Amino acid sequence: MLLYLWAMKKIFPLIILLITLSLLGIIVLQVSWFRDMIILRQQQLYSKAEEATTEVALELSKQASSAPYLKIPRKPNLSLLPEDYPMSFERPTISQHYSNFEIREKLQRSFNLRNLKEVQFEFAIASNSNLYNIEMQSENFRTEVLDEVHNKQIIVPVVPDTGSLLEGLVPYEHLIVIVPDFKTQVWQSLMWMIVGALAFTIIILAAFALTVYTLLRQKKLSEIKSDFINNMTHEFKTPLATISLAVDALKNDKVQQNPEKMQYFSGIIKEENKRMNKHVETILQAALLDRQELNLDMKKVKATPIIEKALNNYQLQLQDKNGKVEMHLKAKNDEIIADENHFTNMISNLFDNAIKYSKDNICIKVFTWNTGKFLQIKIEDNGIGMNKETTKRIFEKFYRAHTGNIHNVKGFGLGMSYVKTVIDVHKGRIKVDSTLGKGSCFTVEVPLADEEQ
Ligand code: ADP
Repeated sequence: MLLYLWAMKKIFPLIILLITLSLLGIIVLQVSWFRDMIILRQQQLYSKAEEATTEVALELSKQASSAPYLKIPRKPNLSLLPEDYPMSFERPTISQHYSNFEIREKLQRSFNLRNLKEVQFEFAIASNSNLYNIEMQSENFRTEVLDEVHNKQIIVPVVPDTGSLLEGLVPYEHLIVIVPDFKTQVWQSLMWMIVGALAFTIIILAAFALTVYTLLRQKKLSEIKSDFINNMTHEFKTPLATISLAVDALKNDKVQQNPEKMQYFSGIIKEENKRMNKHVETILQAALLDRQELNLDMKKVKATPIIEKALNNYQLQLQDKNGKVEMHLKAKNDEIIADENHFTNMISNLFDNAIKYSKDNICIKVFTWNTGKFLQIKIEDNGIGMNKETTKRIFEKFYRAHTGNIHNVKGFGLGMSYVKTVIDVHKGRIKVDSTLGKGSCFTVEVPLADEEQ
């Protein structure tokens, strides 16, 4: 059993650790896999583009090997002088034989064949005398050729396939292809994969966060449940034990003959019975609040007598702790629309806590005053106070400040959530100010009856 409990306690952090590790593993693997894939894609794109360029260069070289022809240089002006027509038998250059459009078509076809349809490229034909002497070029070639950082250049010689003795001696032209923004184009080709992987990683992370959140909630709920059972057992066990002792005493002959003692012990039984009834009420109230079945009987009531009546019920407890109360009920208008029963309970809960969470020599100050259309009620104590975390969470159902060295007062953690619900249904507001070790101050604001109508 102990081993099982230990395992259950450890299993939660273990699950989180395992999931975190596997998630980190998946992310690291994915990143390295993408890096490798991008490098591979770059190599692939380069070699395919090179293949396509070589194929076109080969095609062009066949043309270059065709029979020499009579070359008549083009002249812009129409001169009739015979020296302007030097005729020579030379192979025609590629730019003389093909148009820019034809070369682009050939290259595009070759690119398409290798699944590079989307890849953009620029091209040029360099003259046979000099690589920098461009005979023909595509529209953006000149600008792209300058950017050697981002672009990839492929230069393939167009060697004439003469089959003659001249082969190797004849100077040849070059086909230059540039793939602009090479890396960007590779990234773009992988875009959907990257977006998909990212989206699924985010989904997995969200699912993980949700799982952890649910597990933590479950854990908290189970803690709340066991706390509640512990508190309830304690709260009922004490009066039951006292009643049992009182009943034993009542059975005693000596006691039976003494009416004063009889009165005393039956009084104890009555008191403890009241206490248990109060606990049952609190739990039932919480259940009602859960089902939102708060039966309200709203009518015009005066708040001052309600506050005084509620405080009266705590006289004994105050005496026990050597307490005093200062009343500053200065509100000129204290008429509100309220359910008297729930409103009284709400004020009682605030007094109850002020006494419960205080050491001896309690001083409770109660103020009422008007601000505009509201009645303000302030209950201040000089008790143990609360830290920031508690003040923030005080209205959560079942929430109780950690006991230990702060206080060992038992309770169900239901009182303040009831207070908040009652104030909400009265369209009011509650504010808490507290300093640990110094005391707490609760300010309740409820709309005045005149303003409600
Ligand atoms: P319970 O008193 O049964 O524990 P409550 O809902 O009434 O439940 O209060 C919730 C928690 O708020 C308490 O456990 C206590 O820590 C804190 N608290 C409430 N009122 C006071 C107060 N006046 N002074 C100090 N702590 C308080």
